[in-house]
Amino acid sequence: MSNNPDTTSPNELGPPVEFKSTAGEPTANQTAEIQCRQSMGIVPAKQIIYEAIIGRGERILMDFTVQGVTSQAEVDGVWQAFPAMDRQNGDLMLTVFKTIAHLNPQDRVNQQVGEFTVSVDGNVRKCHFTSVGTETGERVIIKLINKKGKFDSLSDLGIREALVDDFKRLSGRHEEDNDKQITQGMVVIATPPNGGGLSTIWNYALRATDRFMRDFVCFETPDMNETDVENILLDVVDLNKGKSLAASIEAADLRQIDVYLVPQLADKATLERLCYEVNTEKKQVFVSVRATDGVAALLNLRDSGIAPDMLAQAVIGVLHMRLCRRLCQNCRQEFQPSPQYVQQLGLPPTHVHTLYQQNQPVPNEQGIMPEPCPVCAGRGFVGRIGIFELTKITDPLRQALMTESDAAKLRQLSVQEGNQSTFKEGLSLVAQGITSVQELQRALGS
Ligand SMILES: [Zn+2]
Repeated sequence: MSNNPDTTSPNELGPPVEFKSTAGEPTANQTAEIQCRQSMGIVPAKQIIYEAIIGRGERILMDFTVQGVTSQAEVDGVWQAFPAMDRQNGDLMLTVFKTIAHLNPQDRVNQQVGEFTVSVDGNVRKCHFTSVGTETGERVIIKLINKKGKFDSLSDLGIREALVDDFKRLSGRHEEDNDKQITQGMVVIATPPNGGGLSTIWNYALRATDRFMRDFVCFETPDMNETDVENILLDVVDLNKGKSLAASIEAADLRQIDVYLVPQLADKATLERLCYEVNTEKKQVFVSVRATDGVAALLNLRDSGIAPDMLAQAVIGVLHMRLCRRLCQNCRQEFQPSPQYVQQLGLPPTHVHTLYQQNQPVPNEQGIMPEPCPVCAGRGFVGRIGIFELTKITDPLRQALMTESDAAKLRQLSVQEGNQSTFKEGLSLVAQGITSVQELQRALGS
């Protein structure tokens, strides 16, 4: 590294972002960092990371084509575009990212996966980097992982206390009365197929269980990396080595295990094995699946080809979560809906007189737009909240699960049995001014 005071290192330019190489030996990491600091590519690399982090972005997506480089950041589940970049600067930037992650900058075709960290204003974030060649060039995704979780408990995710209590009861934690503890049954954790949050809800749901009193073992494949909860033992099952998930669970049966966890349940054999553990061995099981709601999650499991009565006997509940953006409390706009509109939504018109919507800035008489809101940078939303639906399996629902294939009929029965639908749960967030009707509709559409 040159200490010549006459030459300005490119690293002194651009916003205050510090890159750290973490994937190699200390000397290799240091060499990579020095190389990057001396490259002009460090400036756009810092810029894009800085913009994404101050905008609360969780992922950066970049597309390299002959025309140039387009990039966007995902903020609260919605993609927001950054200004386009020319290919030359883009390539210099990409070389910096690949160098810091100890990947091969010359390889623009094969998939490469690596890691590094960045720090902005003392906040350190791990970056998970993936690049892969596409038909038109190359695609890059950088996932920005905030070491401190965004939510600390199910309540922080926005779940109602009554639902937390019900969920705890299903998952073997009944604080008031030990005799009423449920320690047998399959609990399903679900999120929409295209929505985020499965990892979050899975981990928070497990934190709500009594994992200090019973032995939990989680079965994951090496690529999953889903479960990160204190006091839960992880068994990593390498399916490439010919060991099936079902066989691994069966083998584990010899140990003293109270609760089996399988995130992202995929095959019939595993599901059958888990139902056996519940129905015959009287164990508790948690699985996670992707589905549009609780009833859809149950039908997905049944569609695996398992005997419906085996599934129906095992399953005791589904906790489904959808994420919806929170209105910015600083700039949200109040409006008085007509009683008819309120009624149409399904809210009580006698109670709800005010609703809120996303800020719609209007230009003044000179045609000048107002300054964007400093809290949300003009986006109208800050952060997300979960909309939860807990489907408790009552006897009539269990019976219907064996024979009924009409999802609408199952949903109707679920509501009759006292389970609240996602839409109803979401409406209460609208009534409280936490989100807007439009945002709820968007969130429910996925
Ligand atoms: Zn705002």
